[in-house]
Amino acid sequence: MPTMPKLKLYNTLTRTKEDFVPLDPANVRMYVCGPTVYDYAHIGNARPMIVFDVLFRLLRHIYGENHVTYARNITDVDDKINTRAFERWSRKRPLLAEMRELTEGTVAQFNTDLKALNVLDPTHTPRATDFVVNGAEPMDMVRIIDKLVVRGVAYAAEGHVLFSPTEMDRLLGVPKYGALSKRNLDDMLAGARVDVAPYKRDPMDFVLWKPSNPETEPGWDSPWGFGRPGWHIECSAMAGALLGEQFDIHGGGIDLVFPHHENEIAQSCCAFGVDKLASVWMHNGFLQVEGRKMSKSDGNFVTIDELLTTTTFGGRDWPGPVLRLAMLKTHYRQPIDWTVRALEEAEATLYSWSRVGDQHLVGEPDEGVLEALQDDLNTALVFAKLHKLRDMAVEFPEVRPRFNASVALLGIKLRPLSDAAGEVGDLVGEIETLITARLDARRARNFAESDRIRDELAAMGIALKDGKDADGNPTTTWEVKR
Ligand SMILES: [Zn+2]
Repeated sequence: MPTMPKLKLYNTLTRTKEDFVPLDPANVRMYVCGPTVYDYAHIGNARPMIVFDVLFRLLRHIYGENHVTYARNITDVDDKINTRAFERWSRKRPLLAEMRELTEGTVAQFNTDLKALNVLDPTHTPRATDFVVNGAEPMDMVRIIDKLVVRGVAYAAEGHVLFSPTEMDRLLGVPKYGALSKRNLDDMLAGARVDVAPYKRDPMDFVLWKPSNPETEPGWDSPWGFGRPGWHIECSAMAGALLGEQFDIHGGGIDLVFPHHENEIAQSCCAFGVDKLASVWMHNGFLQVEGRKMSKSDGNFVTIDELLTTTTFGGRDWPGPVLRLAMLKTHYRQPIDWTVRALEEAEATLYSWSRVGDQHLVGEPDEGVLEALQDDLNTALVFAKLHKLRDMAVEFPEVRPRFNASVALLGIKLRPLSDAAGEVGDLVGEIETLITARLDARRARNFAESDRIRDELAAMGIALKDGKDADGNPTTTWEVKR
C-alpha cells in the first residue's frame, strides 16, 4: 500500500469536507445513480459518470484495485419507457419483454458513449427490472416494501403502497426525514399542495408501488396487485443487494438530493433498521449549455453521441478525451457551462500535453497532483499542477513517466502527438495541411499567401518556427501557444 491515504470528501449530509474513513478498507463501497434509459443520454448525464469514474480510479489507486466495489444502476422502468414500449408493442409477447428489448438498445448506446469517454466499467451495473421480484436474491423491491409495511411506515391504498415520512419520524422518535436536504417535515407539510391524490394519508407520502394496467403498462405480480415500483425504491434495493445495508459513498447529480436521495435514506434506514445508509453523500453540480438550461424546446439539448459523431455542436465532432477533459476542468461541485469555447480550450490543452505524451511510459503519479485530487477532487488545482509538470517534461524527458501517470489518474491516456491525430481530432491534420500549403507558397515566393496562412494558424493558437534542413530546404515546426 502507498503512503497513508489522506482523502477528503465533501459530504452533503454534513455540508463539510471530511476525512474519508471507509467502513472496511479492504472493501470500499460506492453507489452512484445512473440514467433512466428511455433515449440517448445527454451531456448532463455524462457528468456524474465521469466525475465518479475519477473517484473510482482514485479509490483504486489508494486502496488497491481489488478493494473497491462500485455499483452504478440503470433505471430501465419508468413512465416514459412504458409509454414508448407500449407504442411499439406488437402484442406477440408480454409488454415487459418489449420494454426489456427497447432498453437493451438504449443501454448498449449508453455503454458505447461511456467507452468513448474512457469511463471504466463499474463492478456492478444493475438494472432495476432485475431487482423487482427476485426469488434468488435475499433482497428485492417487493420484499423491502413488505418490510416497510410490517414496520408501520408504509401502507397499501387503492393498489398503491405509500411511504409515510411522518410515521418514520414517529417510529424513530427523532425528526430524521429531511436530514440530507436540510428540509423540515413540518414546513414541507405546511407548504404542500392541497390537491393531493385521494389515496394519500399525508401530502408528503411518496409512492413505493403503483398499479399497472395490464392492457397498457408493464408490471409484476405483488401482494398489492399487478403493478410496478416507484423510482426511489429501486436504488434502495439495488444498493442493498449489491453493497449491503450500509456502505461508504453514495453519489449522483445535485438534482437528486430531494426527493430521490432523501427517500432512499428513509426507505433503507427503516427497512434495514440502520441509522444511516451511506457515510458520505456526494453530488455533482448542474450542467448548462452555452449559458442556458438544456432543454429540447430551446434547441440546446445535446446528446453524448451527437458530440462524438455529428457536427451539430460547434460545426464539428469532438473526440472523447476532449469531452472528458472539458468536463473535469470545472470542479465537480460547481455548475458547469458546456460551450464550444471550453471544448476548444480543452483540445488545446490536450495537444500541449500530448507533446510529451506516451502511453508506454509507466510511472508513479506526481505527489502534488495526487494530493490535489485527494482534496475533494480539486481538479482546478490538478490542472495547474499538470501544466507546470508538462513544462518540466518538455525540458526533462525523465519527468515524462510521472507526467503521463498523473494524467492517467484523470482517465486520460496520452499518446505522442504524431499518432494521436485520430484521438485528438482533425486539427493536427488541418495544421499540417496548412503548413504544407505555406511551404509551397514560400517556395513560389508568394509571401502574402505565406503570411496569411501564418496568421490563420496563429488565430488557431498555433505558433510556427521556420528553419532549414541539412540540405538547406525550408522546414517548419509548430507548437501550441500557451
Ligand atoms: Zn438512485
